[in-house]
Amino acid sequence: MPQTQGCCETPGCKAPANLQCPTCLKIGIQGSYFCTQDCFKSSWKSHKVLHQLAKGNNKNEAEVYNPWPYYNFTGKLHPAPREHIRKVPESIAKPDYALHPTGIPLSEQALKGSAIIKVLDDEEIEGMRVACKLGRQVLDEAAKVCDVGVTTAEIDRIVHEACIERECYPSPLNYYQFPASCCTSVNEVICHGIPDKRPLENGDICNVDITVYHNGFHGDLNETFFAGNVKPEIRKLVEVTHECLSKAIKIVQPGEKYREIGNVIQKHAQAHGFSVVRSYCGHGIHRLFHTTPNIPHYAKNKAIGVMKAGHCFTIEPMISQGTWRDVMWPDNWTAVTADGMWSAQFEHTLLVTETGCDILTKRLSNDGSPWFMDRS
Ligand SMILES: [Zn+2]
Ligand SMILES: [Zn+2]
Repeated sequence: MPQTQGCCETPGCKAPANLQCPTCLKIGIQGSYFCTQDCFKSSWKSHKVLHQLAKGNNKNEAEVYNPWPYYNFTGKLHPAPREHIRKVPESIAKPDYALHPTGIPLSEQALKGSAIIKVLDDEEIEGMRVACKLGRQVLDEAAKVCDVGVTTAEIDRIVHEACIERECYPSPLNYYQFPASCCTSVNEVICHGIPDKRPLENGDICNVDITVYHNGFHGDLNETFFAGNVKPEIRKLVEVTHECLSKAIKIVQPGEKYREIGNVIQKHAQAHGFSVVRSYCGHGIHRLFHTTPNIPHYAKNKAIGVMKAGHCFTIEPMISQGTWRDVMWPDNWTAVTADGMWSAQFEHTLLVTETGCDILTKRLSNDGSPWFMDRS
């Protein structure tokens, strides 16, 4: 009689067992005893997951990876494993939160609650122009690779390297401990998606949100890209979202109230049957990444302040197919729609001028129209 090596692994079967799974033996997984061939066969479906986990193969890894087994996802998108956290060379100037263990931006927190909107002087305006132009170049690099089969982690790598080449610090990195150099928000993700090893699939939309820090100033912009063939109703969502941003920019001039921006955006979104996300807003930006004013994108908001030449801020409407409500993944970053329907976003950094505004993050390669209208 051969000595019994253990208990059968099949749930509920406690029979003595000395048959070992040959695949487990090959990969070096300890244990894995079964009493009979039949018992082994009946357990195969759940047992083989072990092999996939052990092999660490990208595709299988993404398939079986679930960091939150009890979380109910609102849509089809799930997280995949992430890449390591990237480093920025010593030689590149960093914002205060970059090296802080908690990632807290102390300079921003000192001004929290202040209603004063900074009026930039000529030197500061020039600083913003340069940072925003570099941010635009970095987003254009991301746009070139954003397509079917490419992982958002790969987009993040390209963004990170494009920042360093331009002597920029990627502002999202370690901001309140955000673990990557840009946000990648796929399908039902509204914003603040964390780049991971999931390859983009045919029909996906992917927003890439870039902020760079250069010579003391932040430049912030984002665009939503198509991966492969996107359904007409989703294309419509993306186009209307871009129109919402364009229409809002048109009203920016000295004397206009910040609260008007939301009225313009919601009117256009609603006319097409879409909704406006309420939890995330545009923001003042200059030496600080996020500061006053706070700029909601929905109608009848109570935003404080009047535009004045020298103000710098973003408009970044997030427009959803279904509900405007958002929920957060347990990673405490990824904001998704509460109904799992899809959401799009576009963002520019703007400077109020004497007569209107300058789009500091505008496209340079063409007439300024978005990528999906690019005829080149
Ligand atoms: Zn942004
Ligand atoms: Zn922003």
